[in-house]
Amino acid sequence: MRFRSTNAPELMSSDTTVSFKDAVLSCLPNDGGLYVPDKVKDIRQFFLYMDEQTSFSDLVSTVAPSLLEGEFNPLSASRTTDSAFDFTPEIIRLDDDFSILNLYNGPTGLYKDFGIAFLAAVLDVLRKDHSPLLVLAAARGDTGISIARAFTGRKGINVVLVYPTGPVRGLDPAGFVPNGGNIIPIQIRGTFDDCQRLVNETIRDKSFSARYSITSANAINPGRLLPQVFYYLYAFTRIKKQLSGDLAFSVPCGNFGNFIAGLYAWKFGMPVNGFVAAMNANNALGGFFGGRDFVQGPPVKTNSPALDVSIPSNLSRLESFYREAPAVMRNIAYPASIGDDFVLKTIERVWKKYHLPVDPHTAVAFAAAEQTAADHAWKGHTHTIVLATGHYAKYADLIRKATGQTVTVPESFKSLRKKVDPIALIPPQLDAFENAIASCYSL
Ligand SMILES: *Cc1c(COP(=O)(O)O)cnc(C)c1O
Repeated sequence: MRFRSTNAPELMSSDTTVSFKDAVLSCLPNDGGLYVPDKVKDIRQFFLYMDEQTSFSDLVSTVAPSLLEGEFNPLSASRTTDSAFDFTPEIIRLDDDFSILNLYNGPTGLYKDFGIAFLAAVLDVLRKDHSPLLVLAAARGDTGISIARAFTGRKGINVVLVYPTGPVRGLDPAGFVPNGGNIIPIQIRGTFDDCQRLVNETIRDKSFSARYSITSANAINPGRLLPQVFYYLYAFTRIKKQLSGDLAFSVPCGNFGNFIAGLYAWKFGMPVNGFVAAMNANNALGGFFGGRDFVQGPPVKTNSPALDVSIPSNLSRLESFYREAPAVMRNIAYPASIGDDFVLKTIERVWKKYHLPVDPHTAVAFAAAEQTAADHAWKGHTHTIVLATGHYAKYADLIRKATGQTVTVPESFKSLRKKVDPIALIPPQLDAFENAIASCYSL
């Protein structure tokens, strides 16, 4: 499978496409677009025979080489999985209409751990000579911690985490470059958007990014998108024997990376009938899904903060799906927007009905799934898998408020809250940022 830019015309000649290795190592095409798979392969023959006996790592070790034929053999695939995943997705059937796919068993309790862990491992395996590489990432919430954990100790790789104004938490200073490690946390006086802009500008500064061999660990990197496809396929293989009718997934959406990964799972041949695009009150793509051009709405602060996005970074990837097959997309994407009050009520209802604690992002997906099922009379013939993207214990207070229940917070989560000092504090400008990076190399 080759990769092309979302800005490149479809069906172009193969000389403008790049290999998976080049796509993950450079990660931003020169034309300002994002990398997406070029001609998508139907690989259903590789997973249709799998069932609940097939482990997640066996699935990945089979599916990845068939997708990345010629670049990735079964041996490098199993080395990547072994090095990436000491956690797996877990699917629980709740009743005839709903299952839940728990994606929160990684080190930071977020589904993002899957993409990040795979990217770190694959960059290791693809660079056989361990040539030097500098990975940049705009860091918010626990994503920076997930990236630091996945990349710590990887030979030849340094990681710059760019933080906005505010506390920096959960990193281990022993892993910082001045202390002999490979992590460089830099804080800017600015917002998260400034961090993302700086990362993108640095990658597009060709001479600088060539000097340090720069790529990104943010979701713009197709090496984070691909592994998210695997857990959709895994969920399908685990549940298919119990299905009598249609299958849908409900995905809590912020930047729409997870949603796009689901669409790719479908393109790769997974039998599925719908994807619920579960948004919170920001409803960033409500108009877009309704057939109108995207306009940025006012940002809304909600109780599901990971979904508080007003310009989804994967919009151009989603648009490329609509350009290719608008009518098909209208039949497979089901947008829904859920307000804060309803999120709390859903946490309570899911607890009462299934004895299942869910975090607010998962609650958005649950409520959206129920609403969509009611609107389209899915009951009894469409089974919906709700993606649990965050660990409920990270929202213990909210869960107590909604259900009266006290959930135990795993010991490992407590260290995620610990404040640390970044190694530099700079203004949000490209030259200051590049100077800060350069000075770390002369330490
Ligand atoms: C990041 C995140 C999301 C949103 O995922 P996108 O791929 O940005 O749409 C949903 N839930 C949780 C818990 C997250 O951390």
